[in-house]
Amino acid sequence: MLNTLRNIVQEVNAAKDLRDALEIIVTRVQKAMNTEVCSVYLLDPESNRYILMATEGLYKSAVGKITLGYSEGLVGLVGSREEPINLEDAPSHPRYRYFPETGEERFKSFLGVPIIHHRRVLGVLVVQQRHNSRCFDEGEEAFLVTISAQLAGVIAHSEATGAIGGLSLTGRVAQDVSFNGVAGAPGVAIGQGVVVYPPADLDAVPEKACEDVEAEIALFGEATDAVREDINRVAERLATQLRPEEQALFEVYLRILDDNALPGEVVLRIREGKWAQGALKEVVQQYVRHFEMMGDHYLRERAVDIRDLGRRLLAHLQEGDQQERVFPQQAILVSEELTPAMLGEVPRGQLVGLVSVRGSSNSHVAILARAMGVPTVMGMVDVPVNQLDSRELIVDGYEGQIYASPSPELRAFYESICLEEQELIRGLEELRDLPCETLDRHRIPLMVNTGLMTDVVRSLNNGAEGIGLYRTEVPFMINERFPSEQEQREYYREQLEAFAPCEVTMRTLDVGGDKALTYFPISEENPFLGWRGIRVTLDHPEIFLVQVRAMLKASDGLNNLRIMLPMISNVSEVEEALHLIYRVYHEVREEGYDIVMPKVGVMIEVPAAVYQVKALCDRVDFLSVGSNDLTQYLLAVDRNNPRVASLYHSYHPAVLQALYRVAQDAHAAGTPISICGELAGDPGGAVLLLAMGYDALSMNAANLLKVKSVIRAVSFDWAKALLDDVVRLDSPHVIKSSVDLALRQAGFGRYLRPERGAGGAPGAAAAT
Ligand code: PEP
Ligand code: MG
Repeated sequence: MLNTLRNIVQEVNAAKDLRDALEIIVTRVQKAMNTEVCSVYLLDPESNRYILMATEGLYKSAVGKITLGYSEGLVGLVGSREEPINLEDAPSHPRYRYFPETGEERFKSFLGVPIIHHRRVLGVLVVQQRHNSRCFDEGEEAFLVTISAQLAGVIAHSEATGAIGGLSLTGRVAQDVSFNGVAGAPGVAIGQGVVVYPPADLDAVPEKACEDVEAEIALFGEATDAVREDINRVAERLATQLRPEEQALFEVYLRILDDNALPGEVVLRIREGKWAQGALKEVVQQYVRHFEMMGDHYLRERAVDIRDLGRRLLAHLQEGDQQERVFPQQAILVSEELTPAMLGEVPRGQLVGLVSVRGSSNSHVAILARAMGVPTVMGMVDVPVNQLDSRELIVDGYEGQIYASPSPELRAFYESICLEEQELIRGLEELRDLPCETLDRHRIPLMVNTGLMTDVVRSLNNGAEGIGLYRTEVPFMINERFPSEQEQREYYREQLEAFAPCEVTMRTLDVGGDKALTYFPISEENPFLGWRGIRVTLDHPEIFLVQVRAMLKASDGLNNLRIMLPMISNVSEVEEALHLIYRVYHEVREEGYDIVMPKVGVMIEVPAAVYQVKALCDRVDFLSVGSNDLTQYLLAVDRNNPRVASLYHSYHPAVLQALYRVAQDAHAAGTPISICGELAGDPGGAVLLLAMGYDALSMNAANLLKVKSVIRAVSFDWAKALLDDVVRLDSPHVIKSSVDLALRQAGFGRYLRPERGAGGAPGAAAAT
């Protein structure tokens, strides 16, 4: 059974479009279950009706014509109950609905299972049988449920592919279909999609038309020649070490590369208008599928060779492609997994938006995007990325949605939002040099989180009063090796100098989790619970010592440095780190630098640290809460996983109580406490943190003036009353709505998501 399942899923995965996929499903499932009928009904989001999309056993002429209301007939019953229905005599069921056009009157037994993807019913998979002596047994029911669960993702993906091309389920032209992900960085971007993909990965190659057929064929010819040469060279080198049957493999490779074989087919597709990489991908995938389905083990294994050859050809094609990469003026980067390094590839001023399949709102790349003010949507799990290249896209970073090929009305609607935003920002500029204090003069300094030098410029423009968190891993991430002590010293000096005499809090290297260094790979089953932050640097004192030395020397003459330790879960880690910091401090002074010992603090971002505030305060000068990680660890929700994004909630009562407790315990110990997680930059969050007694808030530059304008417009007592109200509540959603309501009543509705009217953007329909 497992084999059958695997084969069906593989075939469906390789289908060229939704119709093809559904056709494969009905024929294969009918055969595997040995039934007379297998049909798929999909729920059309536009009409909210089930449409018979494919069938094996009913009249084919009924496909696309038979539709049922959302809760009509047995199909509607399966969908609304979201569970299988297995009947021996379907016609006697009160909900049975008979369509003569299908010829189904002959079939008595009925088994229907819902097709559900991310809690959304996509459709119903049905098998039917003529004789009422046959009731589908438990094993068959379990098989159909399993296959439906596995196919749901593939169906959602194919549906989205059609929708990107502007087609609805019924093949009608669908206007302005939106694709849903997770809001990553607020704002709206209108621009052209640029798919960035890992090199030599055939599956990741986007679809593109080719502009100059002859040039593309020549490019492919050069790649084929280069790969032939590579193979001949390797064959010669290994000639004496291999047995004749092993050497024969090279001949097989060369035969596949014969002009009449694989290359010939690729050229044909280029002539049809595809670019060389896309044509190669299609031909290789077709070959691979063909070989993988062969019964003979030896022949099945040849799929690996084809894939290998495909990769080699692609690598050569991409070498030629790299040099001529030109980005559009309004580039929206789209990728399976965006990395900070990718952001740097686009020339300054041309990057307007970001879309990532993986990751969620608190992934580090989203945080970076917020700091850079680039509207971003993360977790676009069902979007066929490789269809988005060169298309006009709208990224709605407020709602976590994108639109492909928008209509003029939709574009005009979003252009008006962009204008409103610009006006809002302009209106805030006058607050730049005013203190951040409430109406009753409760002062709370606003600091900034930085990583890149561009953040510093933006922060100074927005009146930041110091750096509350400098993520030192950012310069490490955009390098190709560990930066040297001298290089680090230059990065750090820039930050310290820009803000002197204000304090600059530098966090020691926090890699691991979703922050990877290409040159220092960490591969773990559970990266967020693994080797991360201080755990890595204490195990590698050579990295830690160089970093601290660079920081101390960079602070020479400025003396505005504070050092902060990430991911502390034990006091012993603080003690070890302090020991190393003191050691470097004395060494640097012995070298003749007249620097003062910087204040040292720890981040409270692991639940264990919440309960050890007093012990930590005994050892350090300040605390700063990392609410991004604290939320993920308290709620056991991976901050990087879009599947659980709706459970990641910084307004969760457990998170708010932990934040409150940390502030109280730190004050009881007489230690200053600040916060540098994203919650500090959320206007509602900032008001609650102010009321909890936080001494400073550190946030990305883009939010600074918004937060300041809210705090300057409320009184400390108002904030405390709001906090008193919401700490009594037990649901994150109710807490969030209460805070939003209070902000709206105070006149700050404009900082919440822009109002879109009841139906969302004009004419929009959701695809995923
Ligand atoms: C945090 O965890 O809240 C934090 C500020 O650190 P980072 O987001 O870099 O993990
Ligand atoms: Mg953190």
